[in-house]
Amino acid sequence: MNARTLDPAQHLIEREPYYEPIGDEIQLFEAAYRQQIPVLLKGPTGCGKTRFMEHMAWRLKRPLITVSCHDDLTASDLVGRYLVKGGETVWVDGPLTRAVRAGGICYLDEIVEARKDTMVVIHPLADDRRTLPMEKLGQLVEAPPEFCLAISYNPGYQSVLKDLKQSTRQRFVALEFDYPAAELERRIVVNESGIDAGMAEKLVRFAQMTRNLKGSGLEEGASTRLLVHAGKLISSGVDPVVACRSAVAQAVTDDADMLTAIQELSSSLF
Ligand code: ADP
Repeated sequence: MNARTLDPAQHLIEREPYYEPIGDEIQLFEAAYRQQIPVLLKGPTGCGKTRFMEHMAWRLKRPLITVSCHDDLTASDLVGRYLVKGGETVWVDGPLTRAVRAGGICYLDEIVEARKDTMVVIHPLADDRRTLPMEKLGQLVEAPPEFCLAISYNPGYQSVLKDLKQSTRQRFVALEFDYPAAELERRIVVNESGIDAGMAEKLVRFAQMTRNLKGSGLEEGASTRLLVHAGKLISSGVDPVVACRSAVAQAVTDDADMLTAIQELSSSLF
């Protein structure tokens, strides 16, 4: 860990992150923030949740500390641990502790991926106690009013193991995210990739076709993120069918028949 990641001031976002609202999520988040209620962002991968958090951190002028949760992530990874440095044992705060102390926004992306013990540390932070228990230090840190906890969760992965427990979810105000409506998604793809509106419209139609395949052999359809990737390849001169295959089809499946089916969809459009 270097000094840069330790300084929450470095996490202040100075330039407005481009974000197209899909509903009233900005007003809802602001209200929850003012009332010190933690926020749960629900929705499929690549539909703008991370970008939304960056935008809100910029709006609220708070540092944003994002943690991508994975199945090895423990409570100590979030809270902190003793490390041996130059023969000395020193305590190093984890990202959650840094966000609490700095009165920042801590965004735990894909929270259900993390080990179960992480819930033990977020629960007291996510109700009106607003405290972070630091067992190894024997301390209880109180979160300042500016601190905000946000987590994300993809309800699409239907597995009991990847479900968010009621005791966790009932602490949060939930904001529902989904792929933007066609017109909005076209605008996002134009803005983010630099391709023209006509090409972006075709990409959006292509994405919608893949989304219809969800449940018939495809776990998830093409996300807005993948369309932006395809658009960027196209604006660098890559043939649209090739861009759709590399940036979209290969990203959503390894199944040979499904790859052929998706390839046919893109060939019919471009
Ligand atoms: P998630 O966190 O939901 O997985 P991201 O926030 O990383 O998804 O979104 C992926 C990309 O899609 C962003 O980098 C951005 O280019 C684009 N995007 C999606 N939704 C929006 C939106 N509403 N406004 C602007 N860009 C968006």
